[in-house]
Amino acid sequence: MALLQISEPGQSAAPHEHRLAIGIDLGTTNSLVATVRSGMAVVLNDELGRPLLPSVVRYASDGKIEVGYAAQTQLAADPRNTIVSVKRFMGRGLKDLEHVDSMPYDFAVNGNEAGGMVKLRTAQGIKSPVEVSADILRGLRARAELALGGQLTGAVITVPAYFDDAQRQATKDAARLAGLNVLRLLNEPTAAAIAYGLDNAAEGIYAVYDLGGGTFDISILKLTKGVFQVLATGGDSALGGDDFDHRVFCWILEQARLKPLSHEDARLLQVRAREAKEYLTAHGEAPIAARLSTGEFVDLRLTTGIFNEITHTLVRKTLGPTRKALRDARLSPDEITGVVMVGGATRMPAIQKAVEDFFGCEPLNNLDPDKVVALGAATQANLLAGNRAAGDDWLLLDVIPLSLGLETMGGLVEKLIPRNSTIPVARAQDFTTFKDGQTAMALHVVQGERELVSDCRSLARFELRGIPPMVAGAARIRVAFQVDADGLLAVSAREQTTGHEAHIEVKPSYGLSDDEIAAMLKAGYTHASDDAFRRALREVQVEAQRLVEAVQSALREDAHLLSMLERAHIDNCLARLQSVLVGDDRRAIEAAMDALSKGTAEFAARRMNQSVRRALAGKRIEEMDRL
Ligand code: ADP
Ligand code: MG
Repeated sequence: MALLQISEPGQSAAPHEHRLAIGIDLGTTNSLVATVRSGMAVVLNDELGRPLLPSVVRYASDGKIEVGYAAQTQLAADPRNTIVSVKRFMGRGLKDLEHVDSMPYDFAVNGNEAGGMVKLRTAQGIKSPVEVSADILRGLRARAELALGGQLTGAVITVPAYFDDAQRQATKDAARLAGLNVLRLLNEPTAAAIAYGLDNAAEGIYAVYDLGGGTFDISILKLTKGVFQVLATGGDSALGGDDFDHRVFCWILEQARLKPLSHEDARLLQVRAREAKEYLTAHGEAPIAARLSTGEFVDLRLTTGIFNEITHTLVRKTLGPTRKALRDARLSPDEITGVVMVGGATRMPAIQKAVEDFFGCEPLNNLDPDKVVALGAATQANLLAGNRAAGDDWLLLDVIPLSLGLETMGGLVEKLIPRNSTIPVARAQDFTTFKDGQTAMALHVVQGERELVSDCRSLARFELRGIPPMVAGAARIRVAFQVDADGLLAVSAREQTTGHEAHIEVKPSYGLSDDEIAAMLKAGYTHASDDAFRRALREVQVEAQRLVEAVQSALREDAHLLSMLERAHIDNCLARLQSVLVGDDRRAIEAAMDALSKGTAEFAARRMNQSVRRALAGKRIEEMDRL
C-alpha cells in the first residue's frame, strides 16, 4: 500500500525563519489552539489564562458577535441567537438532524434547497454552520496572532475520523472564511496519537477513547515509528459529558421535588449539575445549591456513590462501539498496547475504571485529555509548515469510514474502495458499454456497505459522453476514484481509445450522521445473505436482458432467415423471458433464457453461415476449400 509522505525531505526552514503554524481542535463543546514553541507543543491561553474556548457564538441584536465564555453566559437569556454545538450541523441537511424540535433555534428552510446545509435564523440574519464555525475559528486565530506576534503560515484543523466529505469540506470552508490557510485536516484520534507518539516514542496498537461533551468516538490506531494508521473507527454521536449532566439534573429535580421549571431555572440547574459532576472527579461529594426565580432554594449533596449509580448505564454504553471497533480491526482487547484518553469527560474516575477493566491495562493519562488533540495538531502543523528537526520523517495514514463504489447494471454496487481503506487512496477499474452503439455512460457514485444501490447513499452522478459507437462490451472506460489526504473524493472516467474524459469532485450537499453510518454497516452485516441472493438474481436479470437485446437486434437484421413458424417460436420464447425477467424467480429466468437460447440456436447458425458467405463472396472455390 502506498504511504503518503506528508513532508518532503530537505524542506526544513532555516532556524531564523521559523514559520508560525497552529493546530486547532474545533470541538463540539470546546475548541483550542496550540503551537510548537522551542520544540514543545503548547496550548495558547486567552488573556485570562484559560485554555478552552467554549464553542459558542452569539449573534446579538445590537450587531455584536460574542464568542466563547462571553457567549456562553448569555445562553439562558438569549437561546435563539446563541449557537452551541454547531459542529453537529456541519455539512448536514435538516433531515439529517435529530431532536430539531427540542432545539431553541429558528431553522431557515429554503424551499428549493432540499439538499442544502441547515441554516439558522439569528438577530444578525441567516447564518450557516460554516459561518458560525468560522467565527469560532476567527476567535482562535486572533488569540494565536496575539500570542505569537506575527502572520500565521497555516493551520492544521482536526475533525472526527468519521467525518464524511461534506463535513470535511464544510470545515475547510469555515477555515478559509476565517482567513486561515488550511495545511491539512487531521483526524482527531490521529492527532491524539501524534501527541503521545512524540512524547512517549510509543509503538504498537492503540485505542483512542474520546468522550467529549456530546460525542463519543473510539478509534483503533496502529503506531510504528513515524507511521500512524487508523485501523477502525466507531462511536456514538449522541453520547458525552452532557448526558452525565442530564442525569444529575434529573436527580436534582427528583430530590428537590421541583415543579415545571422556567427556561432560565432549567439552565441554571443544568450548569449546577455540570459543576457538581466535574467537582466529583476530584472529591467524594459535591454540594449543589441554587436559588430559583420562584424563590425556592435547592440545597443538595451528591455523593460519588449516587453519581455512579445514576450514570453507570452511560459508562457501559461506551463499551458497545468500543467492542465493535475492535471487531472491525479484528483485534481483541488484550492485543491493544495502550489506550489514549481524550476529551474532558474521560476525567471521570468511573470512565477511567471501565476502560481499564475492559482493556486490562491502565489508560494513558500523562497528557491533559482536553488538550491532547490540539497538541497533536500543532505538532503536525509545525512539520507541515516546514519547521522540521532533522530525523522527523512523518508518515500519516487515515481510513475512510464507508466503502465507495459505482452503480452497475441492475442497480448493483461495484465497490472500488472498501471501507477502512487507508487514505490517500486511488483505485481504478475498467467498465464497458452495455448496448451496441452506446455513446454516453451515466456514472453514479455511491457510499455504503450494501450490495444494492437503493440501500446505499448516493454521493454524485455525472456523465461521460463522446464514447465512439462500438458493439456492446467493446468500449473500455476506466473509472478512477481518488480520496485525498483530507478524505475528499474525486472521480474520473476516461474512454481508453479516444481519451474522452469526464470527472467530478464529489461534494455532496450534506453529510451522513455516524448513526446512519453505523446503521448502514449493521445492515451490511445482517443482510449479507439476503444481499447475496439479490445480487445473484440481479446478475441473472442483467444477463437475461442482454440476451433479449441481442436476439432483438438479430431479428431486426436477419429476420428473413426465419420461416414464419420459426419466427413465432422465437417471439414466444422472447415474450416468456421478458415476462419472467422482471420477477424475482431466478430459476424461471434461467429456464426462459435456456429456452430462448435453444430456440435461437438454428437462427444463430444460419446467421453465422450468412456472414461467412458474405465474407467469402467473390473468392475462388479453391480458396474456400482451404478454409
Ligand atoms: P468536545 O470534544 O465535545 O468539545 P471536551 O473534550 O472539551 O468536549 O469535553 C467537554 C466535556 O468534558 C464536558 O461535558 C465537561 O463537563 C467534561 N469535563 C471537563 N472537565 C471535567 C472533569 N473534571 N470531570 C468530569 N467531566 C469533565
Ligand atoms: Mg474533542
